[in-house]
Amino acid sequence: MTRTTCLGFPRMGRRRELKRALETYWRDGNATALLDTARDLRARHWNLARDAGADSVPVNDFSLYDHVLDTAVLFDAVPERYRALLAADPLAGYFAMARGGDGLHALEMTKWFDTNYHYLVPELHAGQRFRLAGDKPLAECREAQALGLDARPVLLGPVSFLKLAKTTDGSDPLALLDALLPAYIALLEKLHEAGVAWVQLDEPCLTLDLDAPTRHAYATAYAALALGASPKRLLATYFGALDDNLALATELPVDGLHIDLARAPEQLDAVLAALPAERVLSVGVVDGRNIWRSSPRKVLPLLHKALDKLGRDRLWLAPSCSLLHVPLDAGQETGLPDELRGWLAFGVQKLEEQQLYARALDGQDEAAQALQAQAARLADRASTAGVQRNDVRARLHGLSAQAAQRRSAYLHRRAVQAEVRPLPLLPTTTIGSFPQTETLRRARADHRAGRLDDKAYEQVLADEIRQVLQQQEAAGLDVLVHGEPERNDMVEYFGEQLDGFAFTRHGWVQSYGSRCVKPPIIWGDVARPAPMTVRWSSYAQSLTEKPVKGMLTGPVTVLQWSFVRDDLPRETVCRQLALALRDEVHDLEAAGIGIIQIDEPALREGLPLRHAEQAHYLDWAVTCFRITAGGVADATQIHTHMCYSEFNAIIDAVAALDADVISIESSRSRMELLDAFERYRYPGGIGPGVYDIHSPRVPGREEMADLLRLALRVLDPAQLWVNPDCGLKTRGWAEVTPALNAMVAAAREVRSEL
Ligand code: GLN
Ligand code: ZN
Repeated sequence: MTRTTCLGFPRMGRRRELKRALETYWRDGNATALLDTARDLRARHWNLARDAGADSVPVNDFSLYDHVLDTAVLFDAVPERYRALLAADPLAGYFAMARGGDGLHALEMTKWFDTNYHYLVPELHAGQRFRLAGDKPLAECREAQALGLDARPVLLGPVSFLKLAKTTDGSDPLALLDALLPAYIALLEKLHEAGVAWVQLDEPCLTLDLDAPTRHAYATAYAALALGASPKRLLATYFGALDDNLALATELPVDGLHIDLARAPEQLDAVLAALPAERVLSVGVVDGRNIWRSSPRKVLPLLHKALDKLGRDRLWLAPSCSLLHVPLDAGQETGLPDELRGWLAFGVQKLEEQQLYARALDGQDEAAQALQAQAARLADRASTAGVQRNDVRARLHGLSAQAAQRRSAYLHRRAVQAEVRPLPLLPTTTIGSFPQTETLRRARADHRAGRLDDKAYEQVLADEIRQVLQQQEAAGLDVLVHGEPERNDMVEYFGEQLDGFAFTRHGWVQSYGSRCVKPPIIWGDVARPAPMTVRWSSYAQSLTEKPVKGMLTGPVTVLQWSFVRDDLPRETVCRQLALALRDEVHDLEAAGIGIIQIDEPALREGLPLRHAEQAHYLDWAVTCFRITAGGVADATQIHTHMCYSEFNAIIDAVAALDADVISIESSRSRMELLDAFERYRYPGGIGPGVYDIHSPRVPGREEMADLLRLALRVLDPAQLWVNPDCGLKTRGWAEVTPALNAMVAAAREVRSEL
């Protein structure tokens, strides 16, 4: 039999039990309840995997918060500030590292490769010592073994661990490899003693562009791990092709290699040619990053090729990467149309699907027939109403390059805009959302559930908008917003009003810790049947003399935060989104909204992992933004907003958006990011955030004025806008009112110095 497994499993549970248990523990400190829930979830998930056909189950892929944090704690890579707490109360210490608390600030958090999962960045320093300080992988092995399962512990490999870490002293984390390896070796020995047959070492960094020291580190590390007693080692690579790292990866002394054939099917031939005799190859044909059933017509030829070359004993099947990035079970989505449901595979379905492939390879007819039926169902997809719309395709086809252009160049537009809409120097504004109060949340929930009728709900929104405008006028802001009270989520709100989208009820995916997101599914051609935001923006504008900014989520962000259909290139889907949003921009303009903000907080995260692919992505992403904003009058001012500050890699692209004003997060980095704009000689308006909205702390006038003065060292006063880092929806009014008052006062003070 061809062996099947998976590299990792979703952690949260069918009903997000882990989220509830974590949040309860954070309130009441009852560790027993949390640990019981966690153990129960692990057992349930292993059983699910086994029932779906997995021959061995991953263990230690589970985490109470994050697996990179687990690895740091396991090997004692714990910064000094947490040590006392960790010793006194390991669980409290662990969560302090993850979330801060007890006067301790948390580890930094950042995105796991190009996913929307965030990991905690280990904080290391030169001379750091490591030791095997825990037994989580062993303990979880014993749990699985007690259930009669073949347990395969998952460890983040030593090189990826160091590459994902940072040092506080600027030294190279890789210099710590020699110190780290004995701790890994000690763990492998223990796993070996515990009777573990295989251990999985995740080295996703092998799919990145690597420099010579990193390659060298791989060779050193894996040679060392091969010396001691150890289970067989499966080296797991995912999120892309091995490419120029293929020889490196196949030369490492391990017993098996996992490759991602969902993202990089073209690498199979080269891998088969390079793979040493005896080595197991685990092929990831089922996509762990998306929610669509795989295409047997594409997958079976790959599998047959691998089987011919390797024979049954050396071929394994596992989804392309951990199933952490997909929801648990599409069987729960009874609210979706049957057709769509037939195209979907969440975690459980992916394992079942994989099992069919394995059985088909083993010559079982019913499996081959089931796969044929799947292929036929998928072939029907193209002819299902809404999947391919002639109107959408024709419009996209007829799109000229002109569509991505403003009518005039920026400097001319700036003059026209100053003429029709005179604003003071250092104009003040906000990023869009205002506090989402309990009343608002309740009204939205009641409206959804049918307990509040449309009329009553709309009254709540209208009252809220009026109130938000009054607050902004009282604070003395120059460009106002309606506050986005009608939006629960910046992507969902638009997706619900666009054709081609579907929403799941339980399709949660972990984002970080207990936080989950439920991405919409883009299954069909995207079109906008009716205006989406014009009504509330116009209503807001009717209440004030000051300009009210229209608020849209940009096409790249909608794409990035959705599960995207796999039968069209992403860039095509993005262009469809751009056209739909372009209509919205034009309708807002026609309704008298002269300033329109198109948020693109996800532009940067869509950047491909490999350098060679980045230019192409940035090119189409920028074009999509420009299509959205294109064609409006010179007097219409287009803003964009991004919530991060690492601009160096994408500054060309940001400039190429040709927005009139860009607002960005920068208060925590104290305006450091402006260097990139200065070096670039960026001419447009820039609003570097002066108020860190992630923190409950209310900054004072002087503090914000200082940040503005810092910004003016780099920017021309005519460029500088004054705004918070991001939307205010997570804050309360008690913080927002004084903060905005202080922000306006700071702007006035610095203005008077000009
Ligand atoms: N306009 C949105 C808001 O203010 C922007 C959110 C974001 O950038 N993530 O909430
Ligand atoms: Zn933001």
